[in-house]
Amino acid sequence: MSLNFSDTEIAFRNKSSRSLKKASWLFKSFNYPWVVQQGPLLAANALRWHFPLVRSIVKSTIFSQFCGGENITESMEVVASLDESKVKAILDYSVEGEENEENFNYTRDEIIRTIEAATTNSAIAFSVFKTTGIARFALLEKANPVYHKALEAGQFLKLDHLKEALTPAEMEEFQKAFDRFKAICEKAAAAGIRLFIDAEETWIQDTIDAWVEGMMLQLNKEKAFIFNTIQMYRHDRVSYTKRLLSIAEANQFQIGLKIVRGAYMEKERERAHQMGYPSPIQPDKESSDKDFNDAVYFCLGNNRISICAGTHNEDSSLKLTQWMQEKNIAKDDTRIFFAQLLGMSDHISFNLAASGYNVAKYVPYGPVLAVLPYLSRRAQENSSVKGQVGRELGLIKQELQRRTH
Ligand SMILES: Cc1cc2nc3c(=O)[nH]c(=O)nc-3n(C[C@H](O)[C@H](O)[C@H](O)COP(=O)(O)OP(=O)(O)OC[C@H]3O[C@@H](n4cnc5c(N)ncnc54)[C@H](O)[C@@H]3O)c2cc1C
Repeated sequence: MSLNFSDTEIAFRNKSSRSLKKASWLFKSFNYPWVVQQGPLLAANALRWHFPLVRSIVKSTIFSQFCGGENITESMEVVASLDESKVKAILDYSVEGEENEENFNYTRDEIIRTIEAATTNSAIAFSVFKTTGIARFALLEKANPVYHKALEAGQFLKLDHLKEALTPAEMEEFQKAFDRFKAICEKAAAAGIRLFIDAEETWIQDTIDAWVEGMMLQLNKEKAFIFNTIQMYRHDRVSYTKRLLSIAEANQFQIGLKIVRGAYMEKERERAHQMGYPSPIQPDKESSDKDFNDAVYFCLGNNRISICAGTHNEDSSLKLTQWMQEKNIAKDDTRIFFAQLLGMSDHISFNLAASGYNVAKYVPYGPVLAVLPYLSRRAQENSSVKGQVGRELGLIKQELQRRTH
């Protein structure tokens, strides 16, 4: 079947007209800045005060658009519905709790439960987590300069090296955080489940990169189970990828990479400006687009690298399909995946899957109040990414019109 992203019949096959109308109303509301800025705050307060009506409004609108459910069991309906259209799921525990050992341990156990769910359900293709869900941000930040130097020199550091940056109490905490990270990665590899580690802010990302690379060295000997994420809005990520490949060749391990553009652009630029260091972000959107596509092309040319293109960009998705064809790579080659977020860019996900490509969607889940920060970011993204709301609305309108004719 030839690829056509504007086929809305395929894109919305698993959506009723009622839910499309609701999605249309929701996307329209993102055009009002006060909804995006004040809405999540008001909802959070109302939920803390146990207003049941607010809870059910949030749950049946923005939550049901972008989340699978409040827990794994509840999310299974969405997982099954995606699977009917050959779109796989990536269960994403999206709770951002307080930074303490109890919450970090709970999150580790919950991520392990998503891995266990994937072992018994072929509709779940990957597991995923954010390092800041299991480790304190400021601690990762404090270790970052030490890891930065080591990464530049292509070295794998023992935790002992961090003694120069951390106090004994911090070392102990750091060891616990690393043990959680390692336990999740080891569980995934032992279960044969591929695992994404999300990319975050540059001032903690060297710590994350170093941890992920260490896990790749240990666990990706035969197959890429552990995936790092590269953000192509950074101007140094193509060279990072090339350096990683030479390390993997020297140490004989497979690389897994989720390739994205990056979600923290404003924050990155503002911090660089305030602290007076050169911005790590590309000068313009075109440069991010170019590096995204260059990284995809570079990785496609190497058998040691498995990739997941995490993007809602039609052009980048299309280019990847064209390059696969040029290089005679089968559409269902398990080393190549496309991924989007639940509730966004269904026209890309479902049309790619209908044409035979490997596609997965993040299915965020968690209690309504706890996932509000995630929902707030989706609302902001949909109000700020150029043309995103217009595109979603146009496609929904087209499909509703098609259904009535
Ligand atoms: C499956 C999946 C997983 C993801 N995982 C992560 C993750 O682990 N970490 C993470 O940070 N993000 C992650 N994201 C979010 C992602 O980084 C982007 O923010 C989002 O997908 C929008 O980019 P795009 O490629 O879809 O589309 P586009 O709309 O083509 O690109 C928008 C993006 O381009 C970049 N950009 C926009 N304007 C400029 C400019 N003036 N100069 C330079 N760059 C610019 C920004 O990154 C912006 O988000 C993920 C997204 C998906 C779909």
